[in-house]
Amino acid sequence: MKHFIQAVSGILIPLIALATGCTGCTGSNVADSIPAEEKLVKVKGPGFSQDSAFNLIQKQLSFGFRVPGTKEHKNCADWLYAELKKYCDTVYYQKGNATTYDKKTIPVYNLIGSFRPGHAQRAMLASHWDSRPWGDADTKDTDKPIPAANDGASGVAVLLELARNLKGNKPPIGVDIVFFDAEDYGKSEVENSFCLGSQYWAKNLHKPGYRAQFGVLLDMVGGNNAKFMWEGHSDRTANWVLVHTWGIAQELGFRNYFVSQRTGEIIDDHRYVNEATGIPMIDIIQHDPSGRFAPYWHTHADNMDAVDKNTLYAVGHTITALVFNPPLNLIQ
Ligand SMILES: [Zn+2]
Repeated sequence: MKHFIQAVSGILIPLIALATGCTGCTGSNVADSIPAEEKLVKVKGPGFSQDSAFNLIQKQLSFGFRVPGTKEHKNCADWLYAELKKYCDTVYYQKGNATTYDKKTIPVYNLIGSFRPGHAQRAMLASHWDSRPWGDADTKDTDKPIPAANDGASGVAVLLELARNLKGNKPPIGVDIVFFDAEDYGKSEVENSFCLGSQYWAKNLHKPGYRAQFGVLLDMVGGNNAKFMWEGHSDRTANWVLVHTWGIAQELGFRNYFVSQRTGEIIDDHRYVNEATGIPMIDIIQHDPSGRFAPYWHTHADNMDAVDKNTLYAVGHTITALVFNPPLNLIQ
């Protein structure tokens, strides 16, 4: 999957300290030190259960390897569709095809669930749901599929748990939850061989002329000791969404996960969404300042042992608060 285009030296920007002049604030007292008028989280949204999110990852893995073109993959797609139908106002089951780097034709199933479909202002929240067909970063069985608990299933789980909580808790804006397929069927040496589902969607919008005011992609958001930094493409095209989202996370006490440090650009679904539609979309993705992903990335060790409920909790609460406190005043 993704590899760094260019590395940019990190510049640490302790956002909250800047805003309030409060140095050394840690954990939950951050919010208390901010004057109410400066708080980003003004509206308290519904809860978020990290246990439920954790179970939703296990459920995806229970289907087997979600490799495009397999029955396990189709069974999981049907389940995702049924789950979204339980919570969302409108659901789309987008079916298409894509050609892989090795000239194979694979089915592509993108699932889209919308809340308040008629609302003019919208947030697009996405994750890929497929799993990589090979453990090519492993030392053994490099041609065998991987469980992909963090790389794919974690983002889907956070968004499904959000959808469960939005049912009965109307968000202040329209929300579109998008599960992109075939993100991980690529080879880094072949351009545009990753993100085949978002590329298909970009050419076949689920709703003609679809637009959202801002977007967030979740990728590898359940790993233990995860750090989320300012990925380069997100920073270059949607810095205001980064600042607002990281501000909310740090206000909620998650600054040990959400670190305001710039890093290099990553090839991921947000690029294809942004380049095709102009939607300013950020990528919340676990990586370190030098561009490395977790040691179990694209190996058979990307299983439930790699998942940490505390990380799901931090990301889940941040995304929920973002939906209920969207950066509408910042929209450009
Ligand atoms: Zn991957």
